[in-house]
Amino acid sequence: MIYDNLGQVQRKIKEACERSGRSAGEVTLISVSKTKPLQMLKEAYEAGARDFGENKVQELTEKIPQMPGDVRWHMIGHLQRNKVKYIVGKVYLIHSVDSLRLAEEISREAVKQDMEVNILLEINVAGEESKYGAAPEEAESLAYSISKLPGIHICGLMAIAPYVENAEDNRQYFRKLKQLSVDIERKNIDNVSMDVLSMGMTGDYSVAVEEGATYVRVGTGIFGERDYVKGVVTE
Ligand SMILES: *Cc1c(COP(=O)(O)O)cnc(C)c1O
Repeated sequence: MIYDNLGQVQRKIKEACERSGRSAGEVTLISVSKTKPLQMLKEAYEAGARDFGENKVQELTEKIPQMPGDVRWHMIGHLQRNKVKYIVGKVYLIHSVDSLRLAEEISREAVKQDMEVNILLEINVAGEESKYGAAPEEAESLAYSISKLPGIHICGLMAIAPYVENAEDNRQYFRKLKQLSVDIERKNIDNVSMDVLSMGMTGDYSVAVEEGATYVRVGTGIFGERDYVKGVVTE
């Protein structure tokens, strides 16, 4: 099942690239494996998946040592400052940086470990009350402040679009995030690049790709519905 699902998602990404005149190599699929058992991650790995996304530090740090070393781990969930030390040096990219205080903590840990940490700025692109992320108007000044910290490099932007029935309804937000990244890029801020755009999930990744996504984060479409056994949905 996972093998077929991955193939189907990859094919749809390719089709969206063709429709929008992009090359399929510009888009990387992140398999979002949160709440899913290791066996399913291994099945995805066997089918060729190398980029995995998790949203909880504890789950992430439990899964990392049990998977092959060439997996690129993406932290896509809200990150608390006191948990930064557990993931710096272990993850490939942190998608969810939305404050200077969090970036400062990542910088401190990066310097301590003598390394460079790649991050994305999470933007609350639809201005939803319930969502984390910096306001679009704050993004540039946040990028500027973070750019001065040692050991941390901003590679682009990330957004979680609203939950909608019709993916077309999110096109405006994907377009807005892309435009924001172009605007910030034009400022030529030292140590800030805007090559990465992480947007699009199971319901809307084709539209996100058409609007310029370089990473799409797909969970349900690969692994099936999530079963929150403990009854708490904490996304
Ligand atoms: C869970 C999650 C996803 C994947 O959601 P699906 O709708 O299952 O594809 C993507 N991004 C983030 C930040 C998530 O938390």
